[in-house]
Amino acid sequence: MLSQLKQLEDVKDQFQKCVRCGLCRSVCPIFKEDRRETTAPRGKVFLTQMLSSGEIEPGSKVSDKLSMCLLCESCSSECPSGIEVHKLVILARSMVSEKCPSLTNQLIFKKIWTKPQLLNRCVGLLRAGQSFGLLNIGYKMGFLPKSSGLLGQLPGRPARYALPETFPAITKQRARVGYFLGCATNYMFPEVAYSTVKVLSYLGCEVVIPKNTNCCGLPQMANGELATGQQLAAHNLEIFSQAEVEALICDCASCSATLSHSRDGDLPVYDAVSYIMQQLQPDFENRRKINKAITYHDPCHLAKAQKITTQPRQLLQMLPGIEYREMPGAGDCCGGAGTFVIKNFDMSMRILDRKIANIKDTGAELVATCCPTCTMQLSYGLSRHGLNVEVAHPLELLAESLGL
Ligand code: SF4
Ligand code: SF4
Repeated sequence: MLSQLKQLEDVKDQFQKCVRCGLCRSVCPIFKEDRRETTAPRGKVFLTQMLSSGEIEPGSKVSDKLSMCLLCESCSSECPSGIEVHKLVILARSMVSEKCPSLTNQLIFKKIWTKPQLLNRCVGLLRAGQSFGLLNIGYKMGFLPKSSGLLGQLPGRPARYALPETFPAITKQRARVGYFLGCATNYMFPEVAYSTVKVLSYLGCEVVIPKNTNCCGLPQMANGELATGQQLAAHNLEIFSQAEVEALICDCASCSATLSHSRDGDLPVYDAVSYIMQQLQPDFENRRKINKAITYHDPCHLAKAQKITTQPRQLLQMLPGIEYREMPGAGDCCGGAGTFVIKNFDMSMRILDRKIANIKDTGAELVATCCPTCTMQLSYGLSRHGLNVEVAHPLELLAESLGL
């Protein structure tokens, strides 16, 4: 508890800065839906203040209020006083978790999700359960959460098994970079990992993919296990520093946000699309055409946490054959936010429904996005609404266009 209180003291001045202007409320996806001051961003600022001063005790009521946050950073980006509301929420969740620990949370985020081999076995069991139809039965009998459908069919083999520790540059070498393989990409979207590595290699990068990396740490930080998440992030950064790479590349917006905000050394952390567009500048002449109408969804951890919005759009617009259609509210959260959808399914679906309506408005055949959890959420929403629209990472499209 002491460590969290110390951190809360460090951010105490943030509480004083709130001028109650309400700007944060106007951009909060949760407040847009439920209009309650207690779940609005400034309500969370005061909740955290009361927690830190001891005016209220941590407990299930406080925990429920704090769980109503996507950590989307919309409020933090807009606040004229520079209050980082999402960080206060993370700290407050950590305080509550330390005082009133949840055994389920500890089992999942501290015991399983920190041990890649154990996590592998659990995902293997899930995959087997899907194959034998057990998950479907469990869901129908009400033993599994409503969000189980988001998982889709898990691919047969995680990307980790197919990727070597070093992938050579297949054109003249220009850089030696590290590739961080995030959990969701590894287990849910191995094709995204293959596309990223192949594109980097094709554009002149030797790609280092160490076997001993772990989760980036965000799921732990978001679920009350802040210290564990920070340790995981530090562990990953140390591994890549030792690998003597020039840059660390992530194709998951949440991983790049977490690792870039956790770094204290010299190693630069990049989102894969921005690295490719800024540093490698691919040539789009005479490439394969992708004849599709495409729109783009901004992941919060890319657009708000890292201010990256133009490079993915540039890439998509430069792909031959693409008809790019900007969607209204492209920067609005999709409501997934990792574990938020599991804990707050109904609210998550209300937010998702707005996003799906915006996608539908564009008439696009494909939505591109740079985050695997957004991909899961959007795919689920599109199928829930009976829309035949694909979801893909921009680098899958680039790999296709380059013939890789
Ligand atoms: S935008 Fe910032 S200053 Fe304004 S009410 Fe929200 S937290 Fe307070
Ligand atoms: S981080 Fe997002 S969901 Fe959480 S309070 Fe801020 S705007 Fe609302």
